[in-house]
Amino acid sequence: MQTVLPLSYDTSVSKSQCLSILGSTGSIGRQTLELARECSYRVEALACNKNIDLLIRQIEEFKPRLVSVGDADTARELKERLKASSLTEKAPDIMYGRQGNCAVASCSGVDTVVAAIVGFAGLEAVLEAIALGRKIALANKETLVAAGELVMSQARRSGASIIPVDSEHSAVWQCLLGRPLNSWKRIFLSCSGGPFRGYSYEKLADVRLEDALKHPTWDMGAKITIDSATLMNKGLEIIEAYYLFETAVENIDVVIHPQSLIHSMLSFKDGSVMAVLGSPDMKQPIHQALAFPEILERDEVYSYDPFAPANAMISFERPDEAVFPSLRLAREAVQGGGLLPLAYNSANEAANLLFRRERISFVTIFDIVAKVLDGFHNLSDVKLASYDDMINVHEKIMRAVFESYAPEFGHSV
Ligand code: NDP
Repeated sequence: MQTVLPLSYDTSVSKSQCLSILGSTGSIGRQTLELARECSYRVEALACNKNIDLLIRQIEEFKPRLVSVGDADTARELKERLKASSLTEKAPDIMYGRQGNCAVASCSGVDTVVAAIVGFAGLEAVLEAIALGRKIALANKETLVAAGELVMSQARRSGASIIPVDSEHSAVWQCLLGRPLNSWKRIFLSCSGGPFRGYSYEKLADVRLEDALKHPTWDMGAKITIDSATLMNKGLEIIEAYYLFETAVENIDVVIHPQSLIHSMLSFKDGSVMAVLGSPDMKQPIHQALAFPEILERDEVYSYDPFAPANAMISFERPDEAVFPSLRLAREAVQGGGLLPLAYNSANEAANLLFRRERISFVTIFDIVAKVLDGFHNLSDVKLASYDDMINVHEKIMRAVFESYAPEFGHSV
């Protein structure tokens, strides 16, 4: 039987040939395009929000048939700029907004959709790709966190496969490949600890945005960098693993591993523990997702060298959950059930944005997520929800947080 997450190299899933990239101008999107250049994947469709300077360069190089941007004004500007360029003949169709993202996800001829839009905004297009039974290389973890049951059940029905790009989940998946499904016991998700590892709560209360944006080992987009500093990213990853590996949340541990060389570990019932090692380079899990079920050589790979002095030390610690409540809150959201994982994600999206706009302090992010889980506890009763129900709840939570903490944001979500 084919599972949503392929668990064997003997699978009906094929190596990717032709891509749609949702979030092509972001950190994951750009690295996917570098791989497309390196491994000659065809690129049929691209979506971003506002960064049309970069999108135009991507159109010039990869010549997609379809592109989408965030809104009508940006689409108009893009059209004008392409008209004035040498691309008139081969200019792609231009769409925008939610419809545009869905059109990119469902573009004809595409076999793989790379889901790399940040946040809840990526969910609808992922559902569109799932409905078509496509291979999805999933970076956009918020999609699984907000709508894990819907995503997995629709993928089961349509035959879509979901391959994790998140490095931790990619590592766990690689440990699982080819092994019996019921052979493992415990997942250990690696966590660098972020820039504030070892801080007391008092010290954390004073950290500034510029400090939070300096991740010690990974170079990523702004939202996930802040999520890594709060450990909300690891909370999101617990929920992502819960849905992806279909396990109890009690079987998922987080281990602080400051060197980011072990991407995650899986312990088996026979006492063995498998780990995937590598340098902190997202191109590796993206490459594995696209190449799967093949294992393809890459020219420029910086794999783990045990003899390199920088790699000599590998250490582990327990996360300090008294200072960083993010993991506990994530577990509570899963245990509460219903739409509480969605609430965890929406509260964090709103709080993360307010911190990046310097409207709240770092530790207020924790307060906001805790208050939303408490205030919206009735969401645990919602068992069956459609995408429309979910976006309504997401927007309601975002608005509620903005109204309480930054009324000048108005009703914008
Ligand atoms: P970035 O912020 O770098 O990029 C986000 C991308 O999404 C940009 O292309 C942005 O366009 C686009 N985008 C945002 N909103 C919309 C929208 N409404 N419609 C269409 N496009 C939109 O994020 P990352 O690449 O860092 O992260 C992407 C996802 O991957 C996140 O879910 C993150 O958690 C996950 N991830 C990232 C990792 C990393 O190393 N970066 C590692 C593991 C997971 P524009 O540029 O125009 O704003």
